[in-house]
Amino acid sequence: MTDSHPAVFYTHNHFDRAHKDRRDPAWVARHLHDRDSRVWPVWRNRNLFLMGEDQPPEAVALTGAHARGLLQVAADVAFLGLEDGRAQFACDLSDQDEAALTPAMGRAEFRDLREVGVLLDAADASRLSLARGLMYWHRNHRFCPSCGAATSSVDGGHARRCGDPDCGREQFPTPHPAVIMLVTRPGPEGGACLLGRQATWPPGMMSTLAGFVDAGETLEQAVIREVAEEAGIAVENPVYMASQPWPFPSSLMLAYRATAKTTRLNVDRDELDEARWFTKAQVMDFERLGYRLPRADSVARWLIDRWLEEGP
Ligand SMILES: [Zn+2]
Repeated sequence: MTDSHPAVFYTHNHFDRAHKDRRDPAWVARHLHDRDSRVWPVWRNRNLFLMGEDQPPEAVALTGAHARGLLQVAADVAFLGLEDGRAQFACDLSDQDEAALTPAMGRAEFRDLREVGVLLDAADASRLSLARGLMYWHRNHRFCPSCGAATSSVDGGHARRCGDPDCGREQFPTPHPAVIMLVTRPGPEGGACLLGRQATWPPGMMSTLAGFVDAGETLEQAVIREVAEEAGIAVENPVYMASQPWPFPSSLMLAYRATAKTTRLNVDRDELDEARWFTKAQVMDFERLGYRLPRADSVARWLIDRWLEEGP
């Protein structure tokens, strides 16, 4: 993507991930016990925040004695990276009752990043997104898919290894690729774009189409297939625009633009409640028409905003 576009949310790249060093357990342990290191707790997919009355929520990390207390009861710990030389870790406290954690948390509380992410600054949002996604992965990979034996965390929390010495299989926190695409068609005043809504979404919310990539499929093929399946529209020329790690719970969104070859909609009601073509003027006036754009932290919104910026 060109540098002229604003960054996609949850992609702020401020970490030194220290790929090589984090493989050394002694290096990881030394940083883990450093009093300046910061530990970002995750509890049942929620991150820790101080919720201000009149100000945005503040992401909360623990250090020193508070951090050590948490690490003793954490199910998993992962090294996230170095920021200005200061180590950042995530830990999973999901096995604990919330009440048992309260003394260490003070006034801070666990909240869903989906509720508050958009209110955070880019660095905090990206760090918490990584912490949440990585802790989710650990919780869901505690057993070896080959032999069923228990696995344990290695590589600073960026892999898990099977505990059976005859097996020893390693797994890695690979996200699930999903394509998300803004389909446009040429026309007067900048043409139109195709937006749809799933029945489970908030009333009036319309967004770009999206779907998981099938086995053996290229990303471009996935774009073409998904649009045909969901809306009955044939598209050509899928053009890659941007990507976004999306830890709700473990996707990598691959954002495309594609041009429609046909315009007559044939909506698959199992997938979508509604799909429609909207002109730029309509999208600009969306709320008055009774619609809502997708959440501001989504790459769907980013795609729509870029299209609107192109002007008529
Ligand atoms: Zn195994």
